[in-house]
Amino acid sequence: MTDFNKNTTIIKHLTLFFGGFLLATDIFFLVFAAIYDMPLMRYIVYGKLVLNTSNIFLILKKHYLISTVIIYTVILGFMVIGIICAGTEQAFQLYALGMIACVSYNGYMHKRVLGKELPFALTIFIHVICYAVMYVYARYNEPLYDIPQKATDILVIFNSVATFSIVILFICLFHHVAIRSEEMLEKMALMDNLTGLYNRHYLLAVLDSMEIKNPEDCWMAMLDIDYFKKVNDSYGHNCGDYILHEVAEFAKQICKDCTVCRWGGEEFIILSTKRGCSTDLLETLRKKIENEIFRYEDNSLNITVTIGVSAYSSEINNDAWISKADEKLYYGKSNGRNQVVI
Ligand code: GH3
Ligand code: MG
Ligand code: MG
Repeated sequence: MTDFNKNTTIIKHLTLFFGGFLLATDIFFLVFAAIYDMPLMRYIVYGKLVLNTSNIFLILKKHYLISTVIIYTVILGFMVIGIICAGTEQAFQLYALGMIACVSYNGYMHKRVLGKELPFALTIFIHVICYAVMYVYARYNEPLYDIPQKATDILVIFNSVATFSIVILFICLFHHVAIRSEEMLEKMALMDNLTGLYNRHYLLAVLDSMEIKNPEDCWMAMLDIDYFKKVNDSYGHNCGDYILHEVAEFAKQICKDCTVCRWGGEEFIILSTKRGCSTDLLETLRKKIENEIFRYEDNSLNITVTIGVSAYSSEINNDAWISKADEKLYYGKSNGRNQVVI
C-alpha cells in the first residue's frame, strides 16, 4: 500500500468512526427516551438514526466532505434538541466541545477535497452563537421534560464520556496522520525517486553523524558510469534512466552491508563502515556490470563503470574524504576507465 493510500485509509476510518459513533449515540438515546418517556426526543432520534445510517453509505461511497458536514450539523442539532428537552443540567452543551474535533476535521477535508480553506470565522460564529443562544434559552425556559436525578447522572456521564472521547480519539488519529505525513516527506526528501536509493542529503547526514568504531572497515567508493552521455544520445533518456536503475540494483545487491546512494547524475557513492577490503567487493560489482547485457526495448547494451576508492582517515573531514574518492575516480577515467582505483 502506498503512503498516499495509507493516509486515505485513515481518512476513511476517521470518518467512519465519527459516523459509527453517532449511530451508537442514537441507540443509547432511543433506549433512554423510551425508558423515561420522552416522545419528542424519541422522534428526533428516529430522524437522526435515518440520517446517520444514510451517512454511513455516503462514507462508504467516499463522499467524505458531505459526510463531515452532515456529522457536524447532526451533533449541533442534537445539542440544541437535548437542551430544549432536558436543559443544561445533563451536559448536552458539552457536544459543542466535541464538535471542535469535527470542525477541524471538516476544515481538513475541505482543503483536501475542494482545495479551499474552510471559512473558519463563519464556523466559529455559528458554533458560538448556537452555544450562547442555547444557554440563554435554557436560562429563561423550563426544559420540556422533567428528568429524574438518576437519569440526569447517567446523561451527564454519557455525554461527558462521548464528547471527551471523540476529542481525544480525534487528536490521536490526527497525530497519527501528522506523523505519517512527516515520515513520508522525510522519505521523499532523502530518497532518489528513479533508483530507490538514498540521495546526497541522506549520505551527508550519515557522514555527519557517523561514529567510527573500526577505522580499518571504513571506506568510501565513488562509482561513475562510463560514457553514459552516449547511452542517452544513442538510445534515449528513458534507456539512460533504465540503466541507472539497473546499476543501482546491482550496487544494492552486491554491497549489502554498505550505504549506497545516488550522489548525482550517473554517480553513486558506496559507504562502508562494517567491512574492510573493498577491492574484492567492488571488483565483483564492476565485473557484474561489465558482463551484464542490458536489454532495453529492442536494444542490447554493454555498460562499464569506473570506481574510485578512498579509505577513512581521521585527519581529513568528510568533504576531503569525498574529494579523495573523486580524485581516484578521475584517475581511473583518465587511465582507461572500467576499473577500480584504490
Ligand atoms: P565519463 O565516462 O567521463 O563519465 O563520461 P560520461 O558521458 O558518463 O560523463 P558526462 O558527465 O559527460 O555525462 C553524464 C551524463 O549523465 C550527462 C547527463 O545527461 C546524464 N544524466 C544525468 N542524470 C541523468 C538521469 O537522471 N537520467 C538520464 N537518463 N541521464 C542522466
Ligand atoms: Mg560518467
Ligand atoms: Mg559523471
